[in-house]
Amino acid sequence: MPKIKNEPSSLVADWNTLHRVFIRPEDEGSRQTLVKYMEQILFGLHDFLNKHVGVTEEISLVKLAKEYKDTKINQDPQKKLADVIKDIIDEIAPRAVNVASPYFIGHMTSAIPFFMVHLKAITAALNQNVIKLETSKVLSVLEKQILAKMHRMIFKFDEPFYLEHVQNTETSLGVFTTGGTTANLTAMWVARNKSLPPKGKFESIEKNGFFEAMKAHGLERAVVLVSRRGHFSLKKAGGILGLGNQNIIPIDVDSNRSIDLEKLKAKIKELKADKKTRIIAIVGIAGATETGIIDPLPQLADICEALDIHFHVDAAWGGPVLLSKKYCHLLKGIERADSVTIDCHKQFYMPMTSGMVYFKDPKALDQIVYHARYVNRPGSVDLGIKTLEGSREANSLILDSALKIMGAKGYALMIEHGIETAGQFARMIRQRPLFQLVTPPQLNILTYRVVPLDIQKKLKTADRKKRQKLNAVLDDINIKIQRIQREAGFSFVSRTRLKAFRDDHHNTVVLRCVIMNPMTTVDILDEILDEQESIFKSLAE
Ligand SMILES: *Cc1c(COP(=O)(O)O)cnc(C)c1O
Repeated sequence: MPKIKNEPSSLVADWNTLHRVFIRPEDEGSRQTLVKYMEQILFGLHDFLNKHVGVTEEISLVKLAKEYKDTKINQDPQKKLADVIKDIIDEIAPRAVNVASPYFIGHMTSAIPFFMVHLKAITAALNQNVIKLETSKVLSVLEKQILAKMHRMIFKFDEPFYLEHVQNTETSLGVFTTGGTTANLTAMWVARNKSLPPKGKFESIEKNGFFEAMKAHGLERAVVLVSRRGHFSLKKAGGILGLGNQNIIPIDVDSNRSIDLEKLKAKIKELKADKKTRIIAIVGIAGATETGIIDPLPQLADICEALDIHFHVDAAWGGPVLLSKKYCHLLKGIERADSVTIDCHKQFYMPMTSGMVYFKDPKALDQIVYHARYVNRPGSVDLGIKTLEGSREANSLILDSALKIMGAKGYALMIEHGIETAGQFARMIRQRPLFQLVTPPQLNILTYRVVPLDIQKKLKTADRKKRQKLNAVLDDINIKIQRIQREAGFSFVSRTRLKAFRDDHHNTVVLRCVIMNPMTTVDILDEILDEQESIFKSLAE
């Protein structure tokens, strides 16, 4: 057996040491040691990242992968906790991504308030499983309360409604999920089942399956309509739920870059004419992942109401905007949805991972009831009766505590900072001749691209074929700039492909910014544009 370097001979796996890691430390000495470790995590990590790394260390993925090829499990213990923590801080953290850096403005993952680490630690220490009452007790009750609070924020029913449902064991106002993907999947699951009710010998889609459902209803196809900007989790839902992901039908966006209502209506008309197709849901996006754009929710609600179609709002990103008195009007119409997805690990600034889905009708989740003999008995508070997930951590405790610490106003300040900083950033981009703003921000997300002056000029007069060629050149430039900036590791913006302008025929590469870190200032944004300009210049040389 090859010896591991620095392996102290004192490290052994036996019952003595095993007991020690399970029994709570009683003596003062071990308490202090444990406190020291927490201190090391809370401060060591942040100090280290602030001092030594921007966004990430410059090291190629190929090189990294070479270092991680040992696939054997060690027989003997290799390291003490203190050394493991030290290694993570010194060796893993710098090569991970410092998502808390104010220069990291490319994704929906960002800095979190420091108290979140404490709250995450306390949920781990309690280690409750909210699948059932027997492993969570008050946390199940607390979860129902926070679900009602969020439901009220979205749907604004009256006090008697919430008094009736907040602790009602027969009804559910929503569920916590692992994220927006499973929240959307849960919403589509409910919508699918609701739209294919029992008929004759066909009892339910859960029991008899999709094929029997189609036969019983004389159908050949079930579809979901969403704008082209719909999150790809909806496609996964189409696959998992048996619809087929090609039946998650994308509708073009209009000049506002939100769903084109005329095209939507035309599509509905076409689908309705075919008696063998059922529309199980229409999805409105409240904060598209790529552009932050919000669909016209009131108009979508009108359409769904008139045709009795399930109206889902994917507010995974934008949901918490409801807490801002200044900007909640942007989400007007969300209260008319049948279901709403909101992520906790996005604009609720919670640690990975947590999402939620809400249903206007407290009986809607009955569509997906599952019982088991050993848990989740009928009529119990067991939250696992109506969830996709089985075992689940008590994320509701983190959200509840965070709302206590921040207040709606605290969250509103962060939301407003993001929206207003993005607005300023858009003006800065417009002022720089090298850049072109592609999607102006409605919330705190925008896209833009680098367009050198000579190409800008040529684009103005170019015909379709020429434009395509020029855009391909631009794509290449923007991909390079994004990659070089990312690899340098000081700052980070992401990139995606969009139809940059309405009359474009192909998707062009754009740089994408998500401004959610309250520490991201206009000066930092200026530096990031400077860096991109200088990368461009070095490319041109
Ligand atoms: C992020 C996002 C999702 C998916 O959420 P995950 O938490 O990543 O699973 C779905 N819809 C929208 C609009 C999103 O922004």
